[in-house]
Amino acid sequence: MLVTSVVLSEAGRPRPYTASKPVEVRELTLERPRAGELLVRVEASGLCHSDLSVVDGSRPRPLPMALGHEAAGIVEEIGDGVHDVAVGDRVVLVFVPSCGSCPECSSGSPALCRRGAASNTAGELLRGGTRLSDGVHHHLGVSAFSSHVVVDRGSAVVVPPEVQGQTAALFGCALLTGTGAVESTVQVRPGDSVVVVGLGGVGLSAVMGAHLAGADPLIVVDPVAAKRSLAMELGATHVASSVEEVRDLTGGGARYVIEAVGHEQAMADAFAMTARGGATVLVGLPHPSRMLSIPAVQVVAEARQVLGSYMGSAAPQRDIPRLVGLWQSGRLPVERLTSAVLSLEDAPAALDALADGVAVRQLLIP
Ligand SMILES: [Zn+2]
Ligand SMILES: [Zn+2]
Repeated sequence: MLVTSVVLSEAGRPRPYTASKPVEVRELTLERPRAGELLVRVEASGLCHSDLSVVDGSRPRPLPMALGHEAAGIVEEIGDGVHDVAVGDRVVLVFVPSCGSCPECSSGSPALCRRGAASNTAGELLRGGTRLSDGVHHHLGVSAFSSHVVVDRGSAVVVPPEVQGQTAALFGCALLTGTGAVESTVQVRPGDSVVVVGLGGVGLSAVMGAHLAGADPLIVVDPVAAKRSLAMELGATHVASSVEEVRDLTGGGARYVIEAVGHEQAMADAFAMTARGGATVLVGLPHPSRMLSIPAVQVVAEARQVLGSYMGSAAPQRDIPRLVGLWQSGRLPVERLTSAVLSLEDAPAALDALADGVAVRQLLIP
């Protein structure tokens, strides 16, 4: 079938992207789903910093690539061998397809599925190859900025029809990653001091998750005042602008510090904000060439942990329905993350707004 997709042809072009046009809306031919796959009509997708990282070249991927990895939609066709999804189901798409049988999947860590990681790096679907014409690759098995997508069954989580597409989309990356960092990578308990550094969609989701878990104080750090205000509305108790301020507010450092910026200096600052015996959780994705420098002796002598958190250490088939339940009971106001609702043609301007730091989650509607 013919579909429209936002396709990145070259990474690293100068900003503004509205002028350099690294992405354009193209008409492509999409194959029908093979065995184990689904055809999904995309209802809404969210623009995430990981999309921008592919565009600016800090996350190198095979090109051309149909971008986007956070979306929800309606299943329109089912490949052979899929028996637990029905046509008409609403699904949230997730950015690591899990095979269910590799060592990582078998040990309960589907976010680390090794086959999913390999197919994502290759720009292919989990079962190999691409389903798009003109040599266009898939972004993280999803390619969300499209009218329709073919995805592996392991990239989709069925959700109740009550959660509309524009809300459901945000569960696939921002919410899963942010809440997972505080409830799966570490287990925040009532009264634990928590700092969240970087208030994009993932950071603000971490704020929501930490608030729900009873974090106190819950301190946020971000240069943009509007994002700090939103974080306070979502449950943060304090804002801070420096390592010293955080250490003062927490009496020497926080039990948990979540870094959601993806820059090595922010990571080092997050480490410096962490208490003796505490954990620094790294969620943001820096350029692969960047190295992290922290005082090695503190890791040992202060019994500190530095933990990476990919996709919130989550198990999407378990966690997304649970998170949707919390949304249904009013305890996870996910829609507060949406800062704009745009069309696929608006993708270059939306990338500029994200790079400027002013946007939280911009939804693209095909
Ligand atoms: Zn993302
Ligand atoms: Zn696997």
